[in-house]
Amino acid sequence: MPDGTELHVEPGERARDVARRIGSRLARDAVAARVDGRLVDLEAPLDGAREFEVITKDSPEGLYVMRHSAAHVMAQAILELYPGSRLTIGPPVEDGFYYDIEVAGRITEEDLPRIEEKMREIVERDLPIRREEVSKEEVERLYSDNPYKLELIRDLEDGEISIYRQGDFYDLCRGPHVPSTGRIGAFKLQSVAGAYWRGDENNPMLTRIYGTAWPTEKQLKAYLRRLEEARARDHRRIGRELDLFTFSPDVGAGIPIFLPKGEMLRHLMESFVRRVQSRHGYEHVWTGNVVNEKLYARSGHLDHYRDAMFPPMKDGENVYRLKPMNCPSHMVLFNSRAHSYRDLPVRYAEFATLYRYEKSGELSGLTRVRALTQDDAHVFCTEEQVQEEFARALAIIREVLDTYGFTDYRVRLSLRDPDSSKYIADEEKWQRAEDALRRALDAAGISYEPVEGEAAFYGPKADFMAKDVLGREWQLSTIQVDFIQPGRLGCEYVGEDGEKHTPVLLHRAVTGTTERFMAVLIEHYAGAFPVWLAPVQAVVIPVADRHLEYAGIVSEKLGGAGVRVEVDDSPSTMQKKIRENARKKVPYLLVVGDAEAEAGSVNVRRRGQKEQEEMTVDGFAALVRSEVEEVLGPHGLHG
Ligand SMILES: [Zn+2]
Ligand SMILES: [Zn+2]
Repeated sequence: MPDGTELHVEPGERARDVARRIGSRLARDAVAARVDGRLVDLEAPLDGAREFEVITKDSPEGLYVMRHSAAHVMAQAILELYPGSRLTIGPPVEDGFYYDIEVAGRITEEDLPRIEEKMREIVERDLPIRREEVSKEEVERLYSDNPYKLELIRDLEDGEISIYRQGDFYDLCRGPHVPSTGRIGAFKLQSVAGAYWRGDENNPMLTRIYGTAWPTEKQLKAYLRRLEEARARDHRRIGRELDLFTFSPDVGAGIPIFLPKGEMLRHLMESFVRRVQSRHGYEHVWTGNVVNEKLYARSGHLDHYRDAMFPPMKDGENVYRLKPMNCPSHMVLFNSRAHSYRDLPVRYAEFATLYRYEKSGELSGLTRVRALTQDDAHVFCTEEQVQEEFARALAIIREVLDTYGFTDYRVRLSLRDPDSSKYIADEEKWQRAEDALRRALDAAGISYEPVEGEAAFYGPKADFMAKDVLGREWQLSTIQVDFIQPGRLGCEYVGEDGEKHTPVLLHRAVTGTTERFMAVLIEHYAGAFPVWLAPVQAVVIPVADRHLEYAGIVSEKLGGAGVRVEVDDSPSTMQKKIRENARKKVPYLLVVGDAEAEAGSVNVRRRGQKEQEEMTVDGFAALVRSEVEEVLGPHGLHG
């Protein structure tokens, strides 16, 4: 037993019997068991078992088993409603399950309630779910008219094949499953999609039906609410509604193009990081978009990174690549000058647009793109400076993440596996670097989770995983120590001893990439950006056309005072303009009519608030300035 107690098992006793002996409540919540490390049915005999554990429906494994069983119940319902359909595979997935089926007929989203209804009926029947060991010959006979299952069976060993039966339904399956159909909990079918058999577009297209299942109705409802909230915040939708960015086949898959407001957002995000890192002594450089392939041959990227690069461009003898990462270019920059230990550390930062050949099937909104802009930096330093430079990078990351409201994060410190030989560079150097990183994290009061064996071969690293308002975790910042690449590309400095030394390199990203971080921010704020970050901070709304002139004067004055402002001169009514701009989550709406024009004022409505406030134009500009300063300090995004 997991708690270390010993339990004597009688011959012929099954997992469920032992669960019942331990307690009736446990027996009720049990869905499967783990015997000697293997998940098995509750009906499994225990003869000779050494380790035994009951798997309940709330545990990750229990949920997995229950969702797998829900997939079977859905398959049974579909076979009953669409006789002649052919099952293929139906695994549990995160939060739910799916089944790929060649449907006799057609299933659309409108049919899902009917299938759910049939599933409920099958649950009500509470059919026992039983495992049966079958010979290869037998199972081939069972599936003689199902080419998909026959293909799966071909790869199975005779003597290791099982099917699961519930009523008339059976499925080729390894299991385990819950003991009866009455035990699958609360479920909902969610969507229908096309899926090629075995993911190969040369194969027939099957119907994939997705569902979710939870132990209780309450848990199901909570999950559906979370899903709804995530959908409402989907950055692709909000990006469209707020006129931020778009994609077009005319430009190419995975290459986001930014509308004026989206570009303003990029600019603000990058200016902010730029300002913070300038303050910490980083210098910004620029290294272009295309690089001679020979550099990547020397750096080793051509060997290890080729699949992620766009195909080569040939120009006579020269072969170029779209730049997939900055490190080699920054090392070339470093090498363009002679360095003494007195120059170090050298800190190069760049907002560099990189091109990575992501598979088209993996592209997704702004989170997975082919053109991405990294807030990248490379710090060249001596080994003694690693701790201080790591601490400096930590300070930058914390300031940036805190400002965006990501205060709930954890740090994973990837260390070498001391027993592995894959880690180049000498033992003591590694040890010193790892100690330096730990000391810097401790000094900053950042708790971290050390993971041995996770480090890349060239040095230890720290990753920041931040939670957004929905509690979803994103990997954002990274600091990577590198003992290898600078040597490969011949980086050196003259030390105090007059000898040449190879610097240590720190690779560092704060928000990762502008594109992906924009997606995270859009979903984090649900499009309601704080005033300092909003692409448009205020919209002036004239009560009638005759107030357009005054609206123009207000806009010009505010623009001059540094407020990002627009006039809504569309032909809609004032009420409609207020609604529209509120929907676009503009922080301030400034309504101007006769009274305001007369007094030289604006009628201010703050986002999400009913009350209105009369202010002078200067007063409003001062309000915006103070709100920005509160976050960014007296110089805003400058200096
Ligand atoms: Zn199965
Ligand atoms: Zn790098």
